[in-house]
Amino acid sequence: MNEILLLKLGEIILKGLNRRSFEQKLVGNVRRRLLGLGNFRVTCMQSTIYVEPQDETADMEAAFVAVQDIFGIVKISRAASCEKDRDAIVRLASEYLRDDLLRAKSFKVESKRSDKHFPMTSIQLSQYVGGELAERFPNCEVDVHHPELVVNIEVRDIAAYVHAAPVDGAGGMPVGSNGIAVSLLSGGIDSPVSTYMIARRGVRLIPVHFFSFPYTSQAAKEKVIELGRILTSYCGGMTLEVVPFTHIQEEIRDKCPEEYFTLIMRRFMMRIAERIALYNGGKAIVTGENLGQVASQTMEAMASTQAVISLPVLQPLVGMDKEEIVRMARKIGTFDTSILPYEDCCTVFTPRHPKTHPKLREVEQAESVLAVDALVDEAFENREQIRL
Ligand code: ATP
Ligand code: MG
Repeated sequence: MNEILLLKLGEIILKGLNRRSFEQKLVGNVRRRLLGLGNFRVTCMQSTIYVEPQDETADMEAAFVAVQDIFGIVKISRAASCEKDRDAIVRLASEYLRDDLLRAKSFKVESKRSDKHFPMTSIQLSQYVGGELAERFPNCEVDVHHPELVVNIEVRDIAAYVHAAPVDGAGGMPVGSNGIAVSLLSGGIDSPVSTYMIARRGVRLIPVHFFSFPYTSQAAKEKVIELGRILTSYCGGMTLEVVPFTHIQEEIRDKCPEEYFTLIMRRFMMRIAERIALYNGGKAIVTGENLGQVASQTMEAMASTQAVISLPVLQPLVGMDKEEIVRMARKIGTFDTSILPYEDCCTVFTPRHPKTHPKLREVEQAESVLAVDALVDEAFENREQIRL
């Protein structure tokens, strides 16, 4: 039996003018996601992407799971195909959905027909196939209002397809269809989620991590690499930029008033992130900040942090509760890695009494003793790139 996957594209976006490039991006992303899972043919027709195994190397189970992470797809059906003939369709449905039909107490058939040359209307086809199946599976009666099982039939260009209920896709827009941004990736719970959320809007991301060796350990860096790897299932291949941050933090610690440590440090993060973004054609900075969660996440603190750059700062978690963020971290598979107990660079030099409502002028004053440009240059030049 020829089994294939039918991936339905997000519809709202398809109505726009960018439909072709949207589809091409998505087909490319699907092909890349299936690399290593065997030989598949991936094509797009009539707002549906077809994933067809080409030989026995193709791992359908793994592919079915993998495509559920790809942004831009709203529904996924695992279907079987046959020639466009009503009796062939009946035979296929009773074979392919046999277990479902034996288990269910009621069912209905829903047909779609994009091949308008097919000699029956959708309703006629549904009635015919429904009648035949009801005869073959007496345990299961037709119920058009509240069926336990829906047998879907699609008569398309080259073949007819039969499948049971589709599963939900990841939604969103295809990665690469909406520009590039830098995402600040710590080892915490929040920033992997913010990275995921912006990738879901079609943005290709460059994760940046600030690393304070030896105050933070090699294991802490490995943890961020692992988080980045988990995120590639959704974001596609990425290059993690690891920025040496120790010198900057030591300078701040030695020369600035303690209550401004975190704020000044965050201003450096923003400047360096912007440098990396501009260098790579990035148009925004993404952070996992969340209003009111910690001292550096008040509106005044955010203002003083963002004042040093001109790219927009995207904070997709800003209005979420911690519980919601945790739920999402679990769903996308980053939570268990995020809670591994390694120090983050922010916690190493945390002031005892951080300024929660800083005035921009005072922060600038506190920072003015530092050779800001030279420190930013040095960190930028010495960053390490890790292909994920
Ligand atoms: P997270 O759980 O993402 O670490 P958080 O609640 O601990 O967030 P902060 O430590 O204040 O909050 O950091 C706010 C945001 O700044 C993070 O979500 C992340 O985007 C960025 N950030 C913090 N530390 C680092 C770091 N070492 N490297 C890169 N980005 C960082
Ligand atoms: Mg953190």
